[in-house]
Amino acid sequence: MDLLQDKIIYLDYNATTPIEPRVIEEIVNTLDEFGNPSSAHYFGKRAKEIIELARIKVSNLIGAKPEEIIFTSGATEANNLAILGRALCFEKGHIITSSIEHPSVLNPCKHLMRMGYEVTFLPVDSKGLVDPSDVKRAIRRDTLLVTIMHSNNETGVIQPIAEIGETLLEQGIPLHTDCAQSIGKVSVSVKDLKATMISLAGHKSYAPKGIGALYLKEGFILKPILFGASQERGFRPGTENIPHIAGFGKACEIIREEFNQIVNHLKEVTDLLLEKLLTIEGLRLNGEGAPRLPNTLNVSIKNIMADEFVERVGDRLAISAGSACHAGVRNISHVLVAMGLKDFALSSIRLSTGKFTTTEEVIHAVEIIKESIN
Ligand code: PLP
Repeated sequence: MDLLQDKIIYLDYNATTPIEPRVIEEIVNTLDEFGNPSSAHYFGKRAKEIIELARIKVSNLIGAKPEEIIFTSGATEANNLAILGRALCFEKGHIITSSIEHPSVLNPCKHLMRMGYEVTFLPVDSKGLVDPSDVKRAIRRDTLLVTIMHSNNETGVIQPIAEIGETLLEQGIPLHTDCAQSIGKVSVSVKDLKATMISLAGHKSYAPKGIGALYLKEGFILKPILFGASQERGFRPGTENIPHIAGFGKACEIIREEFNQIVNHLKEVTDLLLEKLLTIEGLRLNGEGAPRLPNTLNVSIKNIMADEFVERVGDRLAISAGSACHAGVRNISHVLVAMGLKDFALSSIRLSTGKFTTTEEVIHAVEIIKESIN
């Protein structure tokens, strides 16, 4: 940690979270477990045991069976495996998704379109919600998968996944949902969501980057998208990253044990943040009125250019912009555009709190924002 890092208020937990000290401890303790988990000898067995213990901890968090967890390099890979792995079981077919998905869902879908599959991108309303009756209407005889995110990374809006899952269960169509942002913020239960596949990301829930998982319902089959040996029941070949798997398991265990405490804290600091932000003239909360994650605020502030603003406050406050400037071109958030908020997108910022956020930080952050508007 350098001095500047200590001084900057971090309100970008949806981008990534710091690693929880108990997770770091777990990782450090497993770093010298050098055995290859596929080896039949003592060292291999020790490594395998660590992985299986972590698998139990991850599965416990979402109410799954351990054998339903496939470790991946993160939610991007889990999303790709779910979507491509399902589609490749067929030569062609139809997929339903939403227009506000993360690129790691949108881009595999677009890739499948280039391969001859058809994809319906459902709209959202001005609150950012998919209408479950739109899903019902979009279903075709050849629909092979519905993939709709559980909570949105930019707005925190939570989709009616359980309701969508109920309809799909009746029709025998698998549902995949990207829960990368949901773990540790809202309850994620396999039983309630009625999903066939769920993507998880370690680094959004106090574990390191480069680790995640796909929940794959027992008995459900996917084509692998990587080819190699038989690790992770052949769904994800490659020698396992034991320390990161152990760390992810620990992070899930902590979330499960301390869930109420974590969520109450998120609500407390985020409610305070919103209360303070609302004293800024012309500020609008995007996604207002929809169920939202307890830690995420996406707001538009009149007369600011979000990417410049984020840069301006950058030595005191770490937040995200709803638009980004790359090589002189401004990219507007596809999520806000889908919500009909194109005019607000350029002035939108995202503030996301975490379990280490303090009330003092929140109060100070709003002072910084106020000072920097003019
Ligand atoms: N899905 C959502 C909703 C996300 O917010 C992210 C990360 O930004 C991802 C998927 C990708 O996760 P990972 O970084 O673990 O690949």
